[in-house]
Amino acid sequence: MSQPQESEPYSGALTGALGHITINLEAIARNWQSLARLVAPADCAAVVKANAYGLGATRVVPALQRAGCTTFFVATLGEAHQIRSLIGSGRIFVLDGVLPEFASGFADDSIIPVLSTPEEIVLWRKEAKSRGKVLPAALHIDSGLNRLGLSVNDVTDLAATEGAFDGLEIVLTLSHLASADTPDAPENDAQRMAFETLSAKIPAKQKSLAASDGLMLGQAYHFDLVRPGYALYGGQAFQGGPTPVEPVVRVTAKLLQVRTLKAGDFVGYSATFRAANPMTIAIVSAGYADGVARAASAGTGDVGGVVAIAGKSAPIVGRVSMDLIAVDVSHIPAQDLKRGSDVELIGPNVPLDHVGQHAKTIGYEVLTRLSPRFARTYLEEALS
Ligand SMILES: *Cc1c(COP(=O)(O)O)cnc(C)c1O
Repeated sequence: MSQPQESEPYSGALTGALGHITINLEAIARNWQSLARLVAPADCAAVVKANAYGLGATRVVPALQRAGCTTFFVATLGEAHQIRSLIGSGRIFVLDGVLPEFASGFADDSIIPVLSTPEEIVLWRKEAKSRGKVLPAALHIDSGLNRLGLSVNDVTDLAATEGAFDGLEIVLTLSHLASADTPDAPENDAQRMAFETLSAKIPAKQKSLAASDGLMLGQAYHFDLVRPGYALYGGQAFQGGPTPVEPVVRVTAKLLQVRTLKAGDFVGYSATFRAANPMTIAIVSAGYADGVARAASAGTGDVGGVVAIAGKSAPIVGRVSMDLIAVDVSHIPAQDLKRGSDVELIGPNVPLDHVGQHAKTIGYEVLTRLSPRFARTYLEEALS
């Protein structure tokens, strides 16, 4: 396999960007293939909602399609239209379902709504009737998460009603797990059994329960189709061991200035950090407008976010501001602290999931908040 090549920079980035996001499309493709192998003979879809978790659906989706993926999940009709324009044929499911004003838009573009309420089923049947054809549908069955999905009573009523799905082809029943990242959580087994019982009442071509973490719980959770999102993008949210995927995203900013502090000097807004001893700090060109969470700030004695300079980690000191952070570089040699050198915010030395933890959130939120003003480079294999 040849080395990934740099492609065109992201056209939305402004001239003089002080940060860079590198997205490895080949790694995303390999991650999908790795998960597909793990769950075979079950099928593997890809969840590409929220602009492929912030990484750019226009680049990510064709890479997934080349890897062999033919089923995609998004949250909204607008996202679905975008995916349709990228993949031509292939199945696209909309997880948030269909409102009356959008029903014809779904049918026109062969988008499959995931129906979560009896009203939606009636609405989609009407759309089928008005077109004089059978429309595909997926049904979301709630197995305990109490987010979207048909209730136990809904499923029982529908199963007992003659012709409840007339005009529809139920291609998929699905449910979603609450605690799949925690292998010992009692909800996992309970939800799997509830899904087995409830989905058995409704004839569907395929069944699906697991997302990125659920598929790591073992074959009993795979059913016919798995729906990973985060793991495709290099996420390691599963607590029971490593998911067989590699990192995808590297984010760097620039070192702008180095300053020496005396004991007692403070750093940043509200003076939350004070130097106990003389120290050296670096000012870096990334702030909360670039997705560095303000929650990663570190007053005196707090543990906040961490970056890496020349492979050595450097903790944030003081408040994260809009465009800048300060980091402690007292232990880093001066030759590695030149103005303009790269500072790693996410990458081999600063794993995505740690960035999430230090910001008191999860890597998912970090990805979907990547800086709109950083330049983007997509790595993909040179077409030969
Ligand atoms: C977002 C989502 C997924 C994907 O979850 P990951 O944890 O990112 O793999 C799958 N199914 C549903 C219903 C979702 O909302």
